[in-house]
Amino acid sequence: MSRVDKTTPVLFVDTGQHFPETLVYRDELCALLGLTNVINATPPVETVAKEDPEKWLFSSDPDRCCEIRKVRPLAAAMEGFDAWITGRKGFQSATRATLPLFEAEGERVKVNPLVGWTAKDVLDYIREAGLPRHPLVAKGFPSIGCMPCTSAVKPGEDERAGRWRGRGKTECGIHTTVLDAGANI
Ligand code: SF4
Repeated sequence: MSRVDKTTPVLFVDTGQHFPETLVYRDELCALLGLTNVINATPPVETVAKEDPEKWLFSSDPDRCCEIRKVRPLAAAMEGFDAWITGRKGFQSATRATLPLFEAEGERVKVNPLVGWTAKDVLDYIREAGLPRHPLVAKGFPSIGCMPCTSAVKPGEDERAGRWRGRGKTECGIHTTVLDAGANI
C-alpha cells in the first residue's frame, strides 16, 4: 500500500495496553514505509478514567475492556470511511479459515486481501520487501495484541492461541460487530 499511496489513512488502535515493543515497531514501520497519514485511535480519557483507571478491566471483564479500548475507538476513527482493509489471514486460526475476500459490514465494505495467503507466503513477502519483524515474534509470539492478553504460543498451536489464553475469547470485537460510531461512543 505504501507503494501505491503513502497518504492512505492507516488506523492504529492504541489501546493503552500495548507492549512497548509494539509502539516502537509501529513508529519504525511508519518511518521505513514513509506513511504520512497514520491515525492513532485512542479510547476517550474520560471513559478510561471512569471504567478502567487501574488498567485491570481486562481481568474482570475483557469484553468490556475491548469494547472501550478497541471497538469504540476504531468505530469513531472509521466514521466517514466507506471501506477498510484488514490483515487477517485464514491460516491464523480455525475461526478465520473460511473468511471471504470481501465482506459487507453494515454500509461499509471490508476487504481481506491476505485471507488466502499461507504462512510461507507472508514470510516470503516480508523477506522480499525487506520488512522488519516485530521483536516479539522471535520470542514465540506470532500474533501480538495487548500485553495483558497475549502469551507465547507452543509448537503446533494456532498462531492466535496465545490471545486471551484460557479466557474462552478469540476475538476483540472489531471483526465480530458492525463498527458503528453512533450511540454511546
Ligand atoms: S485485548 Fe485485553 S487489554 Fe486489550 S482491550 Fe482487549 S481485554 Fe483490554
